[in-house]
Amino acid sequence: MGEIYSCCENPQITYLAPVNINIDERTIGSVDVWRCAACKKKFCEEKQLGIDSITDIVGMPRIEGGEKWGVIVSQLQKGKDKWKLVRLKQNGIIKYETADEKILDLKIEDYKIIDDYHTSFLVEDHLNKAVEI
Ligand SMILES: [Zn+2]
Repeated sequence: MGEIYSCCENPQITYLAPVNINIDERTIGSVDVWRCAACKKKFCEEKQLGIDSITDIVGMPRIEGGEKWGVIVSQLQKGKDKWKLVRLKQNGIIKYETADEKILDLKIEDYKIIDDYHTSFLVEDHLNKAVEI
């Protein structure tokens, strides 16, 4: 069992909101967003519709300072493989693993993916909403 991650000395984590992921107005998955009332950090979990959580993380998933939760949308994939929850830095490169296990280097500018075949949005901008991908 791995080390349990704590966001701060006295975590008070409560459920904040979902973000639904839609294709053709049908919800195919969601991101559950949790927040620590003490340090205000947010934590996200990817849920694919009809699939039990596949995360094997103990406690809350870690996010580093300066990173934001985002969703990458691939124009090259369909259905559940079309989106993925990620941690976006403000600028730089993200190693993105595709559904067929290729690793792509995607460029990030101001927390947004800049690429011909991939787009992204920030989870925090869509709380309690559905996003059509
Ligand atoms: Zn905290």
